[in-house]
Amino acid sequence: MRMFGGRKRVLVTGGAGFLGSHLVDRLIARGDEVLCADNMFTGDKRNIVHLLDNSLFEFLRHDVTNPLSVEVDEIYNLACPASPFHYQHDSIQTAKTNVLGAINMLSLAQRLRARILQASTSEVYGDPTEHPQKESYWGRVNPIGPRACYDEGKRCAETLFFDFRRQHGLDIKIARIFNTYGPRMNVGDGRVVSNFIIQALTGEPITIFGDGEQTRSFCYVDDLIEGLMRLMDAPADFPGPINLGNEDEFTIRELAEQVIELTGSVSKLVSCPLPEDDPRQRQPDANLAREVLDWEATTRLREGLRHTIDYFEALLKEEQSIELNAAK
Ligand code: NAD
Ligand code: UDP
Repeated sequence: MRMFGGRKRVLVTGGAGFLGSHLVDRLIARGDEVLCADNMFTGDKRNIVHLLDNSLFEFLRHDVTNPLSVEVDEIYNLACPASPFHYQHDSIQTAKTNVLGAINMLSLAQRLRARILQASTSEVYGDPTEHPQKESYWGRVNPIGPRACYDEGKRCAETLFFDFRRQHGLDIKIARIFNTYGPRMNVGDGRVVSNFIIQALTGEPITIFGDGEQTRSFCYVDDLIEGLMRLMDAPADFPGPINLGNEDEFTIRELAEQVIELTGSVSKLVSCPLPEDDPRQRQPDANLAREVLDWEATTRLREGLRHTIDYFEALLKEEQSIELNAAK
């Protein structure tokens, strides 16, 4: 039921980030009112600047580790840095964002009797021994390693979501998102797709961590957002968790080769140390999403990379011209 009749009011935490800003765009395009709450740790004003004059959009600088009192019909909880570089920068804050953030947003949903969706992650599977990963797999996570603030934080958030459902009958949804890429990825956040594209476009060496034989399955952002919105609209008796990702699996070396080919770059591959606890393989089993949401990722890697390369090319040009003007 809608609190204010007419338009749906939706809270998106982390709405100034990569995924959040695309979600906000889609919600506004379909006529929802959106409140974007973000502490701007990895968010970027450029991701939402086009919305600032839109009467359906409101921005609130807020850290989800603090309680929030607003009136909305639905909540998408996306607040949390997603790149290993950023989430390890202040690992205690990352754990707090995941755990306290989940408690605060669940408490808000409980008061409002609002449906709430959690952006969980394939990282809950850790370095998996089951391949591809099904939702029934409990995972293999190092609880004391450098990735634990994120992995265990997200696992604890899933626990809290299910406890609020069991104890308070809350209407919850959990999406386990696999590596997603596209325009508006944060330039400096060190994720592999943005790193490789920027390195290729600037002629810098492409940094392959380890032997480059580890795998990931890359989902284009538009596909992912469609999956998230379908999950939010799925029947109340389906809380998830559900995998959202592209099933096409690539080695990191194959990704680097595709980026070099598509950019026509002269960059060479260089080997760098493999970060601790880096998962060896990752591929979603997306059958549940097909069955329940009638959803699958359809954008092929080459096509998604082309869009992302175009975005970063334009961004780099814009930054160059700003620097040139400043030097005049
Ligand atoms: P991102 O870093 O671009 O966006 C995260 C946003 O959350 C940023 O705008 C940041 O400022 C905000 N934020 C961080 N801590 C906050 C806090 N304490 N309070 C309020 N806002 C805060 O990352 P993204 O790729 O857009 O990821 C969004 C969500 O999806 C995250 O929860 C992430 O864990 C999840 N996810 C993403 C991926 C992916 O591949 N992109 C994969 C799995 C899960
Ligand atoms: N990676 C790489 N070079 C880079 C950045 C990342 O080889 O410049 C590797 C990283 O070690 C991992 C994979 O690419 O095996 C994906 O890394 P990312 O940080 O994008 O995501 P995650 O590890 O969380 O899946």
